[in-house]
Amino acid sequence: MSNQAEEKRTVQADDVVTIEYTLTVDGEVVDSSSEHGPLSYLHGHGQIIPGLEKELEGMAVGEAKEVTVAPEEGYGPEDPNAFIALPKSEFPPTITLEPGVQLQLSDQSGQVYNATIHEVKDDSVVLNFNHPLAGKTLHFQVKVVGLRAATPEERAHGHVHGEGGHAH
Ligand code: ZN
Repeated sequence: MSNQAEEKRTVQADDVVTIEYTLTVDGEVVDSSSEHGPLSYLHGHGQIIPGLEKELEGMAVGEAKEVTVAPEEGYGPEDPNAFIALPKSEFPPTITLEPGVQLQLSDQSGQVYNATIHEVKDDSVVLNFNHPLAGKTLHFQVKVVGLRAATPEERAHGHVHGEGGHAH
């Protein structure tokens, strides 16, 4: 009896869900659980992108699905104001100034920002501070490989403990 009940369990809020997934963008695989192992997250807490979380609702262990997520439900649209030109002289010579190169910059208060070189001009470099996947349509191949109710502690913390989660 309890085994049958377990098999019929489907993804709902406050469940710890473990998924295998492959994320393809513009025909290229950009992230896959085959590289770093399955992902465990607490469902209904905004820990994964909204467009994927919504589609996982109601799935059972062993079920697989292809999910297409528009930018608005993924990493958001690309913000045209997040492209900023800086003088070439501000970049240390150790940095390769080529489109696509990713950089980390910090401001006076120590806050770190990730940016991608968008364009290199004669005396300036245009940096893109958008998330690399902003404005992109995301294609997920996703499979539910684990499902259990969260512990009261996990619900209170809003994240998963143990394997694949936080160690405390
Ligand atoms: Zn915790």
